Amino acid sequence: MLRLPRVLRPLIAAMLACAGAHTARAEPGPANACAREAFRVVIDVGHTAQSPGATSARGVPEFVFNLKLAQRIEQHLLDVGFRRSVLVITEGRSRKGLAARIKRANALGADLFLSIHHDSVPNKFLEKWEFEGKQRGFSDRFSGHSIFISHDNSDRAGSLQFASLLGTQLRERGLQYTPHYTDRIMGHRQRLLIDAQVGVYRYDQLLVLRDTDMPAVLLEAGSIINREEELRMGSVKHQALISAAVADAVESFCTGRRPRTPTNAASRDGEVSKQATAPAEVVPVRAIKQR
Ligand SMILES: [Zn+2]
Repeated sequence: MLRLPRVLRPLIAAMLACAGAHTARAEPGPANACAREAFRVVIDVGHTAQSPGATSARGVPEFVFNLKLAQRIEQHLLDVGFRRSVLVITEGRSRKGLAARIKRANALGADLFLSIHHDSVPNKFLEKWEFEGKQRGFSDRFSGHSIFISHDNSDRAGSLQFASLLGTQLRERGLQYTPHYTDRIMGHRQRLLIDAQVGVYRYDQLLVLRDTDMPAVLLEAGSIINREEELRMGSVKHQALISAAVADAVESFCTGRRPRTPTNAASRDGEVSKQATAPAEVVPVRAIKQR
């Protein structure tokens, strides 16, 4: 061991401490960095081709909007280095597909689950108009996105954290959430707003949020029953805006979190990212609607 003259020891120690502090400021330590290549996001396409959810003001099924936006989000995540991102497309009738959707997400060992939907309104709010010779339902009463989590998810804190990060990113891009889920006129669809800054609601019973064993968030990206917002939701520019918000929120969320399956990360690299779930035989769960 090198023996330093006693008078020099405090000076050397001070220099080393100074160098260490400089290094710490210059670049974040590995414990805080986001391991993008190991972090897995499951992007769930809401509904199925056979049970496509809501119908837009111009007669387009919600599933078409969900699929397009989810694909853009997946591509954006892949482009910025989240190479383990997986798009989950479920097939079959909605209730049969619901358990398959959850089973698939859980089997993927994901770090985060994001379900993509587009909003409509209860039937009592629908008005009639004619589009391309056909009578359609619409409601221009509400617009904006909304974000949902379940307090019965196994990682409630993580779910809320990502939901708030996502809401913040959307807000920073000039998008406003819709507050109408707090209104009594929503009846059984009324929800508790738990982050009033950025539009995060609580929906404990929603199965894809409750039964997924990872932080889980559902995004209603916008209202397709609103005639103006439907056009916006169909635009590539708007889809890119939302995709960028999701990617930045995922990056923030990932920072400081350890991927769940780091040892599996390498072997999964290069696998086909699109995976479809097969219809499963399950008993329909009454009183809980698939979203
Ligand atoms: Zn939906």
